[in-house]
Amino acid sequence: MAGLSAAYFLSKSSSVAILERESHAGTHSSGRSAAVFIESYENYTVSDLTMDSKDFFLHPPKGFSDHDLMRRRGGLSLVEEGEEKLADEFLDFWSYRCPSLKMIDKDDVLSRVPAIKPGAFVYGIFDPELYDIDVNELLSGFSRSIRQHEGEFFFDFGIEKMGFDGKQWLVNGREQSISGSIVINAAGSWANEIAALAGVEPSRLAPCRRTALTVQSDASSKSWPMVHTFSKGLYFKPEAGDLLISPQDETESVPMDAFPDEFDIATAVDRFERFCDHPVKSIKRSWAGLRTLAPDRVPVVGPSNNNQQFIWLAGQGGFGVQTAPALGELTAGFLLNGGQIPDAIHSNRFFNNGLKS
Ligand SMILES: Cc1cc2nc3c(=O)[nH]c(=O)nc-3n(C[C@H](O)[C@H](O)[C@H](O)COP(=O)(O)OP(=O)(O)OC[C@H]3O[C@@H](n4cnc5c(N)ncnc54)[C@H](O)[C@@H]3O)c2cc1C
Repeated sequence: MAGLSAAYFLSKSSSVAILERESHAGTHSSGRSAAVFIESYENYTVSDLTMDSKDFFLHPPKGFSDHDLMRRRGGLSLVEEGEEKLADEFLDFWSYRCPSLKMIDKDDVLSRVPAIKPGAFVYGIFDPELYDIDVNELLSGFSRSIRQHEGEFFFDFGIEKMGFDGKQWLVNGREQSISGSIVINAAGSWANEIAALAGVEPSRLAPCRRTALTVQSDASSKSWPMVHTFSKGLYFKPEAGDLLISPQDETESVPMDAFPDEFDIATAVDRFERFCDHPVKSIKRSWAGLRTLAPDRVPVVGPSNNNQQFIWLAGQGGFGVQTAPALGELTAGFLLNGGQIPDAIHSNRFFNNGLKS
């Protein structure tokens, strides 16, 4: 996602090549997400990038996609007994920028999601501005446009070696080499591996596993909002006629083709059944992906301290889809027009005269 978003904006006026180890885009985190757009997510910096992306999602450039990129779903947070103060603080923190967030009472919650157990919560917070994102449509739109602008795609191109001669990079795969003046490191969980190949200092990034599964549902759940527990231990949402459930795990991992742990799947089912009168008879599908997080939970964007022609575009955590248009445009604007990268996301924030803080 990250690489395509930057390439999309760059390809309109520059020559770009996408180097991807897999045989197609979206094999890793970008193809494994819950695919939602939440404005009150994580922190104000992520929220700014999300809101800066909203117009692109709702009104993509003409010809970008055949279908809508987003569809309104609505979000519902369940507040349990003892969490009322935290819920008040949450509303104080977010209401100013997300004025449509509102408390709703038990009856309102149950009318929206009748399967929720009435005794499992005290009230809800409803977010009408939560949307489902069509990730395939977004990836296809970026790719189609890059091709139209003569950008090149190299799939099955695992980067194994990189060299810099002072002006140009030479990037080697097993069978091919590509040269170019700028490298954008959009390798998700592998971003620090790419930095090591390039001989630049690593950033402070931690890939963390998150699990998801789908269980059978019926037509009645199709219109449900996405439901989160306020304590962040569970979410579920309708997904192609089924329900997608996640225990919202965040387990540090090495960069890898992530797979779900049985314990996390069992935890998801257990928490879901604690909140819902909707017994899980069987699990249709389960998967895991890596959300790569910087310690301050905002992205890492901009040139390396060691080499100004090596650009970080990493650390998109659990918000890399909903912020992709803004981050792609920002990265291209920096490279093409000398646009500013906000201090909050600048790659140099973890360095102090070249030393990590
Ligand atoms: C369960 C789950 C739910 C999520 N839900 C949401 C959500 O609702 N909304 C949201 O906005 N975000 C969500 N996210 C987060 C989002 O998926 C990520 O932030 C985003 O996909 C990161 O995109 P990326 O392009 O940086 O990483 P990736 O999609 O992982 O892409 C990195 C690419 O780099 C390639 N690569 C790595 N090393 C090499 C190499 N040596 N040579 C060549 N290629 C290489 C990989 O093959 C990979 O394709 C979720 C994530 C998970 C796991």
